[in-house]
Amino acid sequence: MNTDPILEARGLTKEFNLRQGMFGGTTRSIKAVQDLNFHIGKGETLALVGESGCGKTTTTRMLLRLQTPTRGSVRFGGEDIHALSGAGLKRFRSRVQAVFQDPWSSINPRVRIRDFVAEPLVVNENLSAREVDRRVHEALDAVGLGPAHARKYPHEFSGGQRQRIAIASALVSRPELIVLDEPVSGLDVSIRSQIINLFKDIQQEYGVSYLLVAHDLATTRYLADRVAVMYFGSIVETGATDDIFEAPRHPYTEALLSAALPSTPGQRRDEIELRGEVPSPLSPPTGCAFHPRCHKLIGEVCAQRAPELRARGGRDVRCHLHDEKPARVA
Ligand code: ATP
Repeated sequence: MNTDPILEARGLTKEFNLRQGMFGGTTRSIKAVQDLNFHIGKGETLALVGESGCGKTTTTRMLLRLQTPTRGSVRFGGEDIHALSGAGLKRFRSRVQAVFQDPWSSINPRVRIRDFVAEPLVVNENLSAREVDRRVHEALDAVGLGPAHARKYPHEFSGGQRQRIAIASALVSRPELIVLDEPVSGLDVSIRSQIINLFKDIQQEYGVSYLLVAHDLATTRYLADRVAVMYFGSIVETGATDDIFEAPRHPYTEALLSAALPSTPGQRRDEIELRGEVPSPLSPPTGCAFHPRCHKLIGEVCAQRAPELRARGGRDVRCHLHDEKPARVA
């Protein structure tokens, strides 16, 4: 695996303005995503994990250029994606694709599979019909489906086959990065592992990078090289997948993983109950955003000062437990 970044997010921040009150009222701004810094290497899989509402969707939408950041940048292949237009933008749309949980929810049932799979090529590239057919057959083959499927209609396929077809459509433009947003959540448990293995095979064969968003920690453990744990719009810990799963350092990561199955048979994890709810972005906690729910508070500093993300032995952790010296508040 080559670790040159194919994608880099720097200071990525998204604020939403919310109107309050019935008659115009006041406008308040909430921070959905705050100052994210991360990269994805060529052929690498980075997973974003965290509870619902922590900002994963907002982040992936900015990476796919479906949403504009309030501040910060996303560079893909060295170019700022939010500054692209014309041919540069079309090239970006070919090179970055996505597979969602339910990619079929908006598909026209009268569209043949050939046209569904071909869409990214037809929209972003200028190829002859014969070349499009060739690329569609190649993509179907990559997901284990024969060329005869190209003439069929959506209703002729099962859930697992449909997800294979969605993956073929994501592959048809030979992308360098695919965003996998809950890619197996909508599938029967019995076929999830087939699709997860397919992602792995595709990565080995084509060297594509993945950004994975998955609630299911078993999928994350199996597919991801590195994990970024998000809480309340910020990254609180990043590191190699095995390191994070075997020895989480942030109390939130610890709690999140404690609810999952043990990584090694026989290994026991005590479940840590997360107190309370994720805070409202309208009234963010003072200090560390996780402190009202934390089982490892070390003192007033947690409620008074926001911790920084610090590099610690190949890991980045945002917690006062990992400050240089035990933090003190004057
Ligand atoms: P889920 O897994 O439920 O999709 P998530 O981790 O993807 O959650 P986001 O959907 O990115 O989280 O939301 C992050 C925060 O931003 C939440 O507090 C959400 O309410 C808020 N938010 C997201 N989109 C908007 C919007 N268009 N307007 C206002 N607030 C928004």
